[in-house]
Amino acid sequence: MNHHTENTNTQTYKQSGQLLEQADRIVIIPHRNPDGDAIGSALAAFKIFKNLGKKVKLISPNNFPNFLKWLPGAGEVIVASEEKEQAKLLIENAGLILMVDFNSLSRIKGLEDFVNQSKAKKILIDHHPDPKNFADIIISDTSVSSTAELLYEFFVKTRLDSFIDRDIAECLYTGIVTDTGSFSYNSSRPESFRIVAGLLSYSINKDKIHSHIYNNFSYKRMQLLGYCLHEKFVLIPEFNTGFISITQEELKRFDFIPGDTEGFVNYPLSVKGIVFSALFIEKKDIVKLSFRSSGSFATNDFSREHFDGGGHRNASGGECSLNMKDCLARFKELLPLYANELKKTEIDGD
Ligand code: 5GP
Ligand code: MN
Repeated sequence: MNHHTENTNTQTYKQSGQLLEQADRIVIIPHRNPDGDAIGSALAAFKIFKNLGKKVKLISPNNFPNFLKWLPGAGEVIVASEEKEQAKLLIENAGLILMVDFNSLSRIKGLEDFVNQSKAKKILIDHHPDPKNFADIIISDTSVSSTAELLYEFFVKTRLDSFIDRDIAECLYTGIVTDTGSFSYNSSRPESFRIVAGLLSYSINKDKIHSHIYNNFSYKRMQLLGYCLHEKFVLIPEFNTGFISITQEELKRFDFIPGDTEGFVNYPLSVKGIVFSALFIEKKDIVKLSFRSSGSFATNDFSREHFDGGGHRNASGGECSLNMKDCLARFKELLPLYANELKKTEIDGD
């Protein structure tokens, strides 16, 4: 078992390269509710293996947002929640499974048993802290902006970079842009920009990509955002915290489709002095939570401790089995425990 965090060594890349060379019937899996980085990285890997002449399938645990449907290859994604039997068979018969952008099999709900039972060799490429040991090769680096950035390095180090084409560059660029909020966080490493410069050299249409990602909303979605900011945005200045909560009824009222609330969690941080932000979305049985912070407050620890979640320091999520009202009350009563951490309003380091 190779398990390297931060400094993946040459040997690991060599082994990965050998596995890939030998492998046929490759299956690529991103995490459930895939974001731009998960699906962008998965599609980049998908295309590079195609360019290598491999048999490859991309299986997403569930569907992905419409604003990512333009990505090259998106039409070929197998959505496991809709085609479970096919997903099961493909995973069972795979020679190699490449998993991207998650650190625990619990993040691919519905597929974890199939992956566990599959005799395929398994490679994980990810940038979340504390990866669990569920792959033969684990390439994990929390210092990169995104899995897409790490995947680019992986292609270079396994000498696959000569197979990168414009489609792949677009997918990787999308992963980096979405995971850094258009280079506003997690992107202080000079190397990230060198990689982006490398991607631009494939003549990708950067402006088109930004437009697909950020100017692709429905009128109703914008109205939902306006409603949330006006009616549902609560500030708790004494703890430098802001949050937004949305009920099922409200989502219905604004013709919600998946992806519509993407980015909402960032808005409270735009208020001067706010360092911690939360978004509560009522689902069928649970309330789904998203957290963001600017600066040192570790939202992933907070989420892990209280809401069965995890993620990165400045972007994490979890869930709560209480009803919305009790969930919000729980959240509010936790804040005093973090009074000291939340008082640090300066953005430090990355
Ligand atoms: P988002 O708020 O965009 O849904 O998620 C932000 C990040 O938090 C994700 O990239 C992921 O790392 C993490 N995350 C979100 N929800 C969960 C969860 O339920 N469990 C865990 N462990 N991590 C989550
Ligand atoms: Mn990511």
